[in-house]
Amino acid sequence: MPNVINSGKFVMTMDRENKPALKVKSGECVTFITNDALGGQIKSADTSIETLDWNAVNPATGPLYIEDAMPGDLLKIEILEIKTAEKCSMITGKDIGVCAGFFDRILARVMPIENGCVNFSETIKIPLAPMIGVIGVAPDSGRVNCGTPGDHGGNMDCKEVREGAVLYLKVFVEGALLAIGDLHGAMGDGEVSGCGAEVPGEAVVRVSVIKGKNLPAPFISNEKSFMTIASKETIGEAIDAACLMGVDFLMGEAKMTREEAVSFISLACDVRVCQIVDPLKTARLEIPKELLVKHAIHF
Ligand code: CA
Ligand code: CA
Repeated sequence: MPNVINSGKFVMTMDRENKPALKVKSGECVTFITNDALGGQIKSADTSIETLDWNAVNPATGPLYIEDAMPGDLLKIEILEIKTAEKCSMITGKDIGVCAGFFDRILARVMPIENGCVNFSETIKIPLAPMIGVIGVAPDSGRVNCGTPGDHGGNMDCKEVREGAVLYLKVFVEGALLAIGDLHGAMGDGEVSGCGAEVPGEAVVRVSVIKGKNLPAPFISNEKSFMTIASKETIGEAIDAACLMGVDFLMGEAKMTREEAVSFISLACDVRVCQIVDPLKTARLEIPKELLVKHAIHF
């Protein structure tokens, strides 16, 4: 019997009080079926934004309770597959995103996904690059709206949370309570308008509990890079924090001195912006794996 959580089981906040939608053992695979981040409300470019229910924005499917996950553990989330529906949508305009001041109202756009592309216009087809915008666990205390990123993950809008990537999150509460939503068919670093190509779909992940290992998280490992991810009030603070996490990682796992770690980052690692439009801004540091092969890092 496959483990599936349907889109009808969702949360709007990440919170230790949320009732689990499903319980699994460490090492199991789970399919999260997700609604789009706009709650399926944009049916066409004519959708009246005045009638949008903003309280229905950013649902996350779950939460998933992982047995044996305890505070202080790491949760390893292997992104095995992301499937998208055939149509995506977005909004932009007044009060949303970096260019909000240009608009006096909110505009909607609906785009079919065809031939492996998001059909932006007659002349522009954007390659489909599915990613997960919202992926997080319950925070240590309080509740965090699913639209806000943080140390628990959440709305990081990091385009590297894609098929083949492995995301590590710290566990703050028993069971971890993982929730996933906000799939994008495409998104540029920054998510400048405030939206990706918002799309319903399915994310298949394998979740494993790691005990007794410390890692600056949120953290991603993919075929090319290690990445530390941080979310702060400003993008500058987020960048600084991601770099400091990178120093911790290199000192801990590559056994570098602090001077070596900082110098190596300066010479070989890339600061990237994840998003600059959510309540906290998110940045990542990309650390190339090929230069560290002799350091035998097992993440
Ligand atoms: Ca998002
Ligand atoms: Ca989104």
